[in-house]
Amino acid sequence: MKVLVINAGSSSIKYQMLDMTDEHVMASGLVERIGEPSGALVYKAFPDTEKEAKTTLEQPIPEHETGMKLVIDLLTHPEKGVIKDVSEIGAVGHRIVHGGDKFHAPAIVDDEVEQAIEDTILMAPLHNPAHLAGIRTAKRFFPDVPQVVVFDTAFHQGMEPKAYMYAMPYEMYEKLHVRRYGAHGTSHKFVADEAARLMGKKPEDCNLITLHLGNGCSMSAVKGGRCADTSMGLTPLAGLIMGTRCGDVDPAVYAYLERAQGLKLSEIDMIMNKKSGLLGLCGMNDMRDIHAAVEKGDEKAALALDMVTYRNRKYIGSYLAALEGKVDAIVFTAGIGENDDIVRAMSVQGLEALGIKIDPEKNAVRSKGARAVHAADSRVQIWVIPTNEELEIARQTRDLVAGN
Ligand code: AMP
Repeated sequence: MKVLVINAGSSSIKYQMLDMTDEHVMASGLVERIGEPSGALVYKAFPDTEKEAKTTLEQPIPEHETGMKLVIDLLTHPEKGVIKDVSEIGAVGHRIVHGGDKFHAPAIVDDEVEQAIEDTILMAPLHNPAHLAGIRTAKRFFPDVPQVVVFDTAFHQGMEPKAYMYAMPYEMYEKLHVRRYGAHGTSHKFVADEAARLMGKKPEDCNLITLHLGNGCSMSAVKGGRCADTSMGLTPLAGLIMGTRCGDVDPAVYAYLERAQGLKLSEIDMIMNKKSGLLGLCGMNDMRDIHAAVEKGDEKAALALDMVTYRNRKYIGSYLAALEGKVDAIVFTAGIGENDDIVRAMSVQGLEALGIKIDPEKNAVRSKGARAVHAADSRVQIWVIPTNEELEIARQTRDLVAGN
């Protein structure tokens, strides 16, 4: 089965076409700046192979529909295309950031599912409207192809109430659904399943701590293939320190800033989401720039690095406790997790007494593949596993459509 994976943002469409007989990527690319005066499209046939052929377009792309039409024209192009006709597409898989508490698993799109995504817009005001635009556009172009939605929040629906409830008046949960939902679930599930496979175990037979460290950062405790706890909350602001997001702070900071500075809640929300984290601490939000600045003696950059990795360690410690000390492996993924040996080493530094010991030489090796980086005498294994959310979406889409 060929699966087209679509990740529609408010002004972009990221796409990938996969042949699920052997899970290889036939084409991939990005439509950007939809609705702006100058739009752009990148299309790669057979990416990351010797046959890779890249096409770029620069032209106004007024709405998602035009962007999708350009993508389909390229996918079916006589020379540049990878399929003869859209009828070759067996299913479309859509990435959806927030499914609220309704979706524990992927779903085939029908009116009820669309309505449920619409009902969750308050939880993800930027993402869910864009996802709906993507679904509606795809339905118009492929009316006979099953459309599947795969939710970033679904994996975390495995949590028990003690992990997802907030200690606030119960009616806030009942009436307004205020609780922990988590994010990056598709990535956590993918690397957790991969880790189990690489360790020669079934997902249900191992406990893991997964760290998705990219521009957004989150950590999950995974117990027997299910999410037991995760660091992001009602929104993706909670938990670890991120590129521009503060992660955990005293919730009363909101009230204090309002009293002290007369700031509006929306202004504080913006500061915490867009001007905090690494950026707020040292003026940079790319970890590579921060390492370069630390080398030059920048004290604020050094503090930011210390804070990020200290927060990671504290969460690892708390998830070790949540998993009652029974942890098979710690898994690092995403831009920082996959590439940054310094952050990896500092995030587990001093945890040897808890059975966690990294091998400095293995950790320093740069590679695009999955690899183990723990010392031979580490009780807990440590893995670096590249995430692949598109492949996970395509797998879940195929399995649902094929009735597996
Ligand atoms: P992601 O959100 O997974 O795409 O990750 C993006 C982030 O990964 C960037 O903002 C960087 O901070 C970080 N990153 C990417 N490559 C490297 C690298 N080679 N070393 C350190 N950090 C990196």
